[in-house]
Amino acid sequence: MEDWDDDEFVSTGSGRFDRPTSASVWLGFIVVFISFCLLPESCFTWSEALWRTHQRLRREMLQLLRLSARGPVFKLLAGCLQPVLTLLAGCVRACSCGRLSSRCRPPHSLCAKASGPTEVMLIWTPLRLPNAFHDERYVIAWRPHSDSGEPLDLPWTEQLIDSNLYGTAQDGRWGTLVDGLPEAACLRVRLCSVNRLGRSKWSHEEVEVITLALLQEDGRPVQRPACARTRMVSAPGIQLCLQCSTPLSAKKCSRTHAKVACRPIFGPDCPHGPFCERCRNRVSEQALPCCVCRGLVDTWVEPAKPLQPAATSSVAALNSS
Ligand SMILES: [Zn+2]
Ligand SMILES: [Zn+2]
Repeated sequence: MEDWDDDEFVSTGSGRFDRPTSASVWLGFIVVFISFCLLPESCFTWSEALWRTHQRLRREMLQLLRLSARGPVFKLLAGCLQPVLTLLAGCVRACSCGRLSSRCRPPHSLCAKASGPTEVMLIWTPLRLPNAFHDERYVIAWRPHSDSGEPLDLPWTEQLIDSNLYGTAQDGRWGTLVDGLPEAACLRVRLCSVNRLGRSKWSHEEVEVITLALLQEDGRPVQRPACARTRMVSAPGIQLCLQCSTPLSAKKCSRTHAKVACRPIFGPDCPHGPFCERCRNRVSEQALPCCVCRGLVDTWVEPAKPLQPAATSSVAALNSS
């Protein structure tokens, strides 16, 4: 009987294989095993035993994949492949000139920090779309408002933003510095995204900026000028969740206010809403469901009257000086 040498190459010079190596046997077995698991269930309707075997093998293969995904080898492979794929997507995005982009969606989590008497740092987060080749830029618009929050009949001044102050931040946030705003004015700043397919809607949040004068009444420059004041406000027609500040459109604001069982001790002026669906479910699941004012929630109702978009107390006053 001949010895079976696993490491021996068994291909002849003419390309004919005399004996399979153990590696090719294992490879063939794995291919057959994966092919068998990937076959649709409808192929085994004629045999219950075969169907059960197929289901069991498929479950075990999925479990094996799940465990492998947590292992160091898979993480190492993913760590090596991710930069390559990111670079490849960036090249395709640049070469396509935005032709592979999806339709823009409004950015969210807009916030602001004043950095001078007429300068504001804006920070926002783009909405992630399931398209690796999506490309977009942003338009910042501002215009004066009255101190009472009423819009003045003035056009918006727009500024195109195509570079991120944060560079390629891992969390995907964008930032830019808006300077040259009018002195001693109350302004509203809003944001949208834009690409070849057009603009998105405006952000659900707006920033109210109160800039300061650079000159004193006698015409001399202000010594050590303070920073402008900023606060977050909701866009017209948009309310924010009382608990998590998620923007809520008018359509989603029905039955989102809590009716408390008794008058709360803390926050007697609390409107008890609106709550987003997630917060409402979370509050309802509590043993003693409470509003943010600690009032015991009895039931959920529609608001007695449509609330005017108001300044958010939870995210407001990012910068008060
Ligand atoms: Zn919420
Ligand atoms: Zn309340």
